[in-house]
Amino acid sequence: MKKYNFSAGPSTLPEEVIQQAAQAVLDFNNNGTSLIEISHRSKDFIAIMDEARSLAKKLMKLDDHHEVLYLQGGASLQFTMIPYNLLKSKAAYIDSGNFASVAIKEAEKIGKIEVLASSKQDKYTYIPKGYTIPSDVDYLHITSNNTVYGTEIKTFPETDVPIVCDMSSDILSRSIDYNKFAISYAGAQKNLGPAGVTMVVVDKRYLGITGRNLPSYLDYEVHIAKESMANTPPVFAVYTTLLNLRWLEKQGGTEGIEKKNKVKAELLYNEIDRNPLFRGVCEKEDRSLMNVCFFLNDEEKYKAKFDQMWKDANIVGVGGYRTVGGYRASIYNAMPLEGVQALVNVMKELEKTA
Ligand SMILES: *Cc1c(COP(=O)(O)O)cnc(C)c1O
Repeated sequence: MKKYNFSAGPSTLPEEVIQQAAQAVLDFNNNGTSLIEISHRSKDFIAIMDEARSLAKKLMKLDDHHEVLYLQGGASLQFTMIPYNLLKSKAAYIDSGNFASVAIKEAEKIGKIEVLASSKQDKYTYIPKGYTIPSDVDYLHITSNNTVYGTEIKTFPETDVPIVCDMSSDILSRSIDYNKFAISYAGAQKNLGPAGVTMVVVDKRYLGITGRNLPSYLDYEVHIAKESMANTPPVFAVYTTLLNLRWLEKQGGTEGIEKKNKVKAELLYNEIDRNPLFRGVCEKEDRSLMNVCFFLNDEEKYKAKFDQMWKDANIVGVGGYRTVGGYRASIYNAMPLEGVQALVNVMKELEKTA
């Protein structure tokens, strides 16, 4: 039986997507070749890339200023590509978690960075708010969902400054205005597909202004012109991402999946708040719908027992991030409600037998 996989990334994908991806590796479109051995210049693969771009555009309701790119190097390479492509004089960053702080460090190698707000001193337990955005910065970089700490932006800043958003762990999990971002990006391995591809959504109007002579692979304009085929794309990761986007469309798109994601998160947070053995970590108003972090109040007494119980319940991947400890249940789009219910049942059972 397939386990309920709460890993933060690479993470769970819908069973039908795994089946279809596996089948395509064995024999793609019943044509006697594997998906991973056909040319990326073949008609078959060009159709995959076209649909992967157009379906993402449709699901995010993007306007024609925005282009969807499938690149490599993970979200991590975007930490560099973004300042290379957009930073002329100064950029503003919000330090809301460990990936946000890495993004800052990388950008500082390229230009002048102003950190407008940070929740680091409070162990990143909330989303910084109420900061003033200088009007003279080239862009503001934010992280919509902090994967390690379990916080998520509910209300995005209103500003004329172009917003760049790391959406690695909550892209396409909710219905928001994706057109509001100059750039949004996500490593696929959390909520989109397998590791190896990164989705980058770029508003073309903000490109070509820095005067930098960019290395080709780091230049968004090159990838836009070549329709994400400037070099050999990661064919398996792109195809599996497409399968997952098709699955998402069947769930009712972002509106449909948001409803399901809210039900799942509420079920788990309610149990964390109700069950006297557990406690949440973050400010309630900032709690993530994707990564639910919690602690046992008495680890010494209950940890071994709880860990055995969830393992016996067919659950994997709920350990907290290595520097944070406790527990983290990543309940991305593909996690079924039954999986969350299984975890909640174990928490209830622990309380009963405590
Ligand atoms: C995982 C993650 C990253 C890093 O992604 P890679 O694809 O491994 O480079 C960056 N930002 C956030 C918010 C993440 O969750």
